[in-house]
Amino acid sequence: MPNISHNLAQIRADILKASRKSGQPEPPKLIAVSKRQPQSAIIEAYEAGQRNFGENYAQELEAKAKALQKQGVCWHFIGPIQSNKTRIIATYSDWVHSIDRIKVAERLSHHRSTEQPDLQVCIQVNVDNAPNKSGVHPNELPQLIDAIHVLPRLQLRGLMAIPDKHNAAQAFLALAKQADHYQLSELSMGMSQDMEAAITAGSTMLRIGTAIFGPRSVVKKI
Ligand SMILES: *Cc1c(COP(=O)(O)O)cnc(C)c1O
Repeated sequence: MPNISHNLAQIRADILKASRKSGQPEPPKLIAVSKRQPQSAIIEAYEAGQRNFGENYAQELEAKAKALQKQGVCWHFIGPIQSNKTRIIATYSDWVHSIDRIKVAERLSHHRSTEQPDLQVCIQVNVDNAPNKSGVHPNELPQLIDAIHVLPRLQLRGLMAIPDKHNAAQAFLALAKQADHYQLSELSMGMSQDMEAAITAGSTMLRIGTAIFGPRSVVKKI
């Protein structure tokens, strides 16, 4: 069994260290990626002070968000978005990091209740311009940004990427440059394996799973 509170303490210390070393004004926010982890693991992290959690599957998010409604968890949806899941995602997320097309943005806007705060969103960019990878092509980013800016109930906050591990450092810098160009302040980048390079490039939100919770189950936890 992984020692979740121990892992969290270690990662928080590592984040602080890398952040100071690279001269960042403040350390990035840590999002604990709890996909395919049981609720007991989330509760353990919660008890160790963790409040931001990341999920990849709509139904799994819904089940966990309902079960932990009272705790006041901040839920981040970080997985690929099927348009028939936008109602669930818009209802149970506080943040969505993985918008990659206008249709999905429109549907999230449509399904976000006026009784809830605006949904905080990032656009996922295919920084490596790799075929078969999620994210909007960098050339199509301006149109998507313009489209999201005019949609009600969505607040565009930043950019997200999952670069190829062979040139992650370069890709993180490229994403930071794009965010700066479009005056977007949030950079959702960095996972268990490439955390330090992401912090150096100015990440504001790290998405860390395995290093906190250990290996994931092969089946969805719904
Ligand atoms: C699973 C996942 C992560 C976490 O990955 P780890 O390697 O377990 O840290 C981060 N971001 C996204 C989009 C993911 O799907």
